[in-house]
Amino acid sequence: MKKFKLLITFLMLTVGCTTTTENSETDNKSTIIANQQEKINDFAIIIHGGAGTILKKNMSDEKEAEYKSKLEEAIKVGHAILKNGGTSQEAVMKTIQVMEESPLFNAGKGAVFTNSGTNELDASFMDGKTLNAGAVAGVTDVKSPIELAIKVMTDSEHVMLSGAGASIFAKEKGLEIVDPSYFYTERRFKSLERIKEREKTELDHDDKTAAFYDADIKNAKFGTVGCVALDKDGNIAAGTSTGGMTNKRWGRIGDAPIIGSGTYANNLTCGVSSTGWGEYFIRSQVAYDISAQMEYQQKTLKQATQDVIQNKLTKLGGTGGVVALDKNGYMSFEFNTAGMYRASMNDKGDLVIKIYKE
Ligand code: ASP
Repeated sequence: MKKFKLLITFLMLTVGCTTTTENSETDNKSTIIANQQEKINDFAIIIHGGAGTILKKNMSDEKEAEYKSKLEEAIKVGHAILKNGGTSQEAVMKTIQVMEESPLFNAGKGAVFTNSGTNELDASFMDGKTLNAGAVAGVTDVKSPIELAIKVMTDSEHVMLSGAGASIFAKEKGLEIVDPSYFYTERRFKSLERIKEREKTELDHDDKTAAFYDADIKNAKFGTVGCVALDKDGNIAAGTSTGGMTNKRWGRIGDAPIIGSGTYANNLTCGVSSTGWGEYFIRSQVAYDISAQMEYQQKTLKQATQDVIQNKLTKLGGTGGVVALDKNGYMSFEFNTAGMYRASMNDKGDLVIKIYKE
């Protein structure tokens, strides 16, 4: 009887152990599979032109066509560079510059206005091969903030420059300087006036800033721009450029120039560019969190972007989205707003351009 009991105990232990081993083997297998997806694109590019309350019913056919054609023009510039063997850095910069030069987007030419009626631009760039990065904040007279961010990375020992100093650096490096009036657009100025009008009439407490950002998000169409590219050498680069949020004050800086929030790139994982309510993106470290989930939890790009945007950011109360592209050429658009101007192109030249939720 004693022997029988021992045998039963032995059998139970063995079964127990086997089950545990099988479970952990299964887990390992699934994580390894997730991490070792096959390369599906030798090169690829993905962009956004901002996320927000972008609804079909508020958009004329002409405006929609204008946005789509600018997105197409921009992404094709970067795609051609990648196809010809150019670097992801060049592709990201040139693609973003097309959008910075368009008044349609809240970046460069079409930047939104601060509370005092000025335009203060932010941008950042990251190189996934070296993990080098450059960023600028509160720039008022440099035509291409993304170019300046890249210059900070390549030509200075710093990562982030701001305000007047960033402008001096830009001049020293021979970048194109413009009169601040270059950034004036009637549409954005009116949007500031509308918000300030509401500020006078509707709100009289300290929560004004938050409330106006909220109102802006609900009522305005945003337009920060961003791009992530993978080149034929397997190098990922990501960049983001913005005018920030309408009616911002006190030198407010959002997530766009913050490496890890607005922009991140790592050849081992992915590249990310964010757009949305910056304060939440900073607190959530959105772009880095996506990369970290891929690196430490072996998540796929889709799983990581979904968790960060639909789960973590949403729970915190943040709104916005990301475009992301991984080392194997998988691409992901993820947002929790009504729409996000966005486009992607793979190495076969397949072009996707979308604005609203499916
Ligand atoms: N994230 C930008 C900011 O907070 C705004 C945006 O993407 O719409 O400055």
